Amino acid sequence: MISEEQKDELRRHLAGFLIEEEPLALKTAFKIGGAAAFYLQPETLEDLELTLRTLAELELQFVILGGGCNILVADAGIRDQVVIDLGKGFRHLEVVGSDFWSAMLRVECGVHISQLIKLSEVEGYGGLEKLAGIPGTVGGALAMNAGAYDATIYDCLGALQIMEKDGLVWRSASHFKPSYRDGGLAPGQVLIAAYFLLERRAHVEITTEIARIKDLRRQRLPRGAHAGSVFKNPAGDFAGRLLEESGCKGMRCGGAYVSEEHANVIVADKGSRADEVMALMESMQARVCDRHGVNLEPEIKIYS
Ligand SMILES: Cc1cc2nc3c(=O)[nH]c(=O)nc-3n(C[C@H](O)[C@H](O)[C@H](O)COP(=O)(O)OP(=O)(O)OC[C@H]3O[C@@H](n4cnc5c(N)ncnc54)[C@H](O)[C@@H]3O)c2cc1C
Repeated sequence: MISEEQKDELRRHLAGFLIEEEPLALKTAFKIGGAAAFYLQPETLEDLELTLRTLAELELQFVILGGGCNILVADAGIRDQVVIDLGKGFRHLEVVGSDFWSAMLRVECGVHISQLIKLSEVEGYGGLEKLAGIPGTVGGALAMNAGAYDATIYDCLGALQIMEKDGLVWRSASHFKPSYRDGGLAPGQVLIAAYFLLERRAHVEITTEIARIKDLRRQRLPRGAHAGSVFKNPAGDFAGRLLEESGCKGMRCGGAYVSEEHANVIVADKGSRADEVMALMESMQARVCDRHGVNLEPEIKIYS
């Protein structure tokens, strides 16, 4: 709960870029959910530094929003935490150096994975092809350790630039212990930029692989508003397989339903509610637990 006193302090310190009751639905892939009671969109490091310092002083929790592709916002919105949106600013991408064999890229957290893939395709920098088609920002992908087809965003990562409450720090990739769909960031760490070391490869090799991956994804994923896989794969198995065998395809709660194409994807029809997605998730978990004795853990983040 944010107290009246904290609200007044927020308004006083962050007046330049603080918005109250900002709707979030259209900033997420599900396109549902309520508003952020307090929403900040800092576009410079100075503004972000001021934001984090102020929130720490006021002892307020915050949540970072990237592209919103892995987030479900509750119908009542996000009331008790301040939302910091880094999906619009911090979009600089540069090749900091290259030689005959490789190139080092500095990519800010708000850059979309698709932009990074495009650059690697145009310039002939290989290593990230299997991430083609994953929506969202580089910051979100690193926080989630996003990946597909046995590759993850950490595979080509050299170092990260991170903002903590005491300022900006650089850490080598080996400093982190990413695990399945978790980049291993400590609470309060905000990713600012990533340094990727990519290999120079023939254009045709990269373009062909990207086209193959995008095609595979097109065959697997349904249309409509969804956030990709709802549950993490349990060790040694696939959530989709367990859900399908438990008869989850086609299950519905209000406007939210389990895709017929992929049992681990919930599609939210226009007008559906976050509550309905959450209720459906519980029913899916219960069915898998009854049938297979496995407790599925959500991959999507639910914010309220
Ligand atoms: C159609 C579709 C297909 C998908 N396919 C895949 C897939 O194949 N593989 C896969 O791994 N995921 C997949 N996803 C999920 C999603 O695309 C990834 O998790 C993506 O990396 C999320 O990025 P985002 O910018 O949207 O992050 P958000 O959803 O905005 O945030 C995700 C998490 O990252 C945190 N975060 C975001 N930016 C920062 C930052 N700068 N610093 C610190 N924390 C931050 C947020 O607080 C949140 O906890 C899919 C989603 C959709 C909609």
